[in-house]
Amino acid sequence: MRSRHLITPFTNHPRIGYFSMEIALAPDIPTYSGGLGVLAGDTLRSAADLRLPLVGVTLVSRMGYFRQALDSEGRQTEQPAAWDPARFCEPLEAKIVVKIAGRKVWIGGWLYVVQSHLGGRVPVILLDTDLPENDKADREITHFLYGGDQTYRLKQEIVLGIGGVRMLLALGLQIRNYHMNEGHSALLAMELMRRFDLFNRRRPHEPSYNLPGVRALCSFTTHTPVEAGHDQFDWTLVREVLEDYVELDELKKVAGEDRLNMTRLALNLSEYVNGVARRHAEVSQRMFPGYSVSAVTNGVHPRTWTAKSFAALYDRHLAGWCNEPMLLVRVDQIADEELWDAHTAAKAALVGRVKARCGVEFDPWLPIVGFARRMTAYKRPDLLFSNIERLRAIARSHPFQLVFAGKAHPRDTAGKQLIEDLHRHIRALDGVIRAAFVPDYDMATALDLVAGSDVWLNTPQRPLEASGTSGMKASLNGVPQLSVLDGWWVEGCIEGITGWAIGGDGEIENGGDAEQLYHKLGEVVLPLWYGERAKWVAVMKGSIGKNASYFNSHRMLRHYAIEAYLR
Ligand SMILES: *Cc1c(COP(=O)(O)O)cnc(C)c1O
Repeated sequence: MRSRHLITPFTNHPRIGYFSMEIALAPDIPTYSGGLGVLAGDTLRSAADLRLPLVGVTLVSRMGYFRQALDSEGRQTEQPAAWDPARFCEPLEAKIVVKIAGRKVWIGGWLYVVQSHLGGRVPVILLDTDLPENDKADREITHFLYGGDQTYRLKQEIVLGIGGVRMLLALGLQIRNYHMNEGHSALLAMELMRRFDLFNRRRPHEPSYNLPGVRALCSFTTHTPVEAGHDQFDWTLVREVLEDYVELDELKKVAGEDRLNMTRLALNLSEYVNGVARRHAEVSQRMFPGYSVSAVTNGVHPRTWTAKSFAALYDRHLAGWCNEPMLLVRVDQIADEELWDAHTAAKAALVGRVKARCGVEFDPWLPIVGFARRMTAYKRPDLLFSNIERLRAIARSHPFQLVFAGKAHPRDTAGKQLIEDLHRHIRALDGVIRAAFVPDYDMATALDLVAGSDVWLNTPQRPLEASGTSGMKASLNGVPQLSVLDGWWVEGCIEGITGWAIGGDGEIENGGDAEQLYHKLGEVVLPLWYGERAKWVAVMKGSIGKNASYFNSHRMLRHYAIEAYLR
């Protein structure tokens, strides 16, 4: 059988089951919405490079997240981003069944193989309910990433968690540890509870859930201190959709009495729990007293997030850097002119993209300040525009250009409003500051922006940015960050050496950030850019040598291997 042959090479030794609602597998596979999915993709890409035995599990999301269109006022409309799994994946013959809302739902799967340029391969299973056996409504469960209502979301999480475990076992994969990348997949722990019960029950009516046994198998990474990021479901809904899957009274003990709280479930059933930066682990520890929350600071995949010109530069001077990114500490070996030339090439690519996508002609001789990420309130994309007069004055003494990008979730009205606000500000600056908003932010746009900007801007509201990863991508391309001290920047910022801080390190010290931002940009960052080239290049080298060498997904995954997988 075809599918047997496909999966067989991956069944020879036990693997880590890495579960994530979204995974950014490739730029033209739209199965991700933002940082969480990109991180999952980078994790699996590093696993392939390092030949670590992981297997990814996610939903096929045939209609993708969405494609963003913007009118001249910045009003966002969403189009489905349908993709054809058959173009990128092999169909698996195995099918399993899960009962959802009283109906049997068949779940099939696709195999995508993450290929390292070094030869390593990591399998990813994309679960798919769009099968002829299924009821029409059930066929759509795996269509829309983060689409639909609470019921739809719960059904998706049943497919991911319960369906995922069953599929791995049906395929003959041996799983030594289950890693929940965010709480969306926490029902996998419930599936394990049930399995242990089925094996261990002595009397038919006495459940015997072996919770320590489940815990020993599970790890959980929490990704956000933002309340809306933690899924909760009413027990009435759970009863309707899941029925008597496990004893509800027993489930309530581990998932919350009031509602099914996916974060609680994951916390209670995981031996290892971590946040995605040191500061985020501290914040999470306070949110979840009674649990032990470790820290594994995020990282980005070196080869994926390095522009061509920089990859060529590193290949010439630091051979092996993308397999051992620690070699980037030796960046001082590279001559300033060569580094600047690589930057100039990356900047030309960005200038070209801005022209093609926005019709705006940037001047390659002026600095570009970049800001791109999901458009949502806590990221404060509008902080820079708190005082337009001040911004104009800065631009008059040190001209600069601005580039933005980012999607708002279709139901995030505040996020959508921010995109309109940015468009309004951009119009108001016309003639003083050249600025553009690049539509339909995705991995390809992200690479052009993080590599081609001169300064990467990040202004989240403390302490809500768990990590942030776009600034790490910038550092791989020698682009220093100007950022609020939150998330990874608390660890990554050495003032004037790797980039610059906006405001202090106080957790809720958000009030004076706009003032601090203007001060740093106008008095420190832009004057340095316009001053002696060598001094600017020294900061570029600081961001590469001190940050890119460390904040990469190779280091991150080795950290997970030692702390979580090999415990
Ligand atoms: C890296 C990336 C993100 C995450 O950016 P943050 O700075 O962490 O918010 C989001 N979307 C895309 C497409 C990315 O490449």
